[in-house]
Amino acid sequence: MPDYTYRCNECDRIFSDMNTISKRHTSECKCGGIANRDLDAELAAVGKRHKWITENERWSRSMGVPVASLDEYRKKYPKSTYLDDGRLLIKSRSDKLRQMKERGFVELDNNRR
Ligand SMILES: [Zn+2]
Repeated sequence: MPDYTYRCNECDRIFSDMNTISKRHTSECKCGGIANRDLDAELAAVGKRHKWITENERWSRSMGVPVASLDEYRKKYPKSTYLDDGRLLIKSRSDKLRQMKERGFVELDNNRR
């Protein structure tokens, strides 16, 4: 069975799933939500799945903060959006770079491994 890429309508999670051709348009996310096939994500994922997911992550855990520190960080970075579980919203690649710079983070260069 072919491997398709889906985006969940509930939690925005992107995942791939095997499905039959006749059922390829939707899949079920582990949160219980219905996910629709995402053609852009699927095309972008071909051959560079890891890189693509890294660059398009919507809610970043690695740039997130402990729940106990949420208030502090929300005041410190008023332009940023934190989920209640501590994850940080990343709107795009350039947004991620801007937020990393703001925090003094340095990006690891995946291409040089
Ligand atoms: Zn979901």
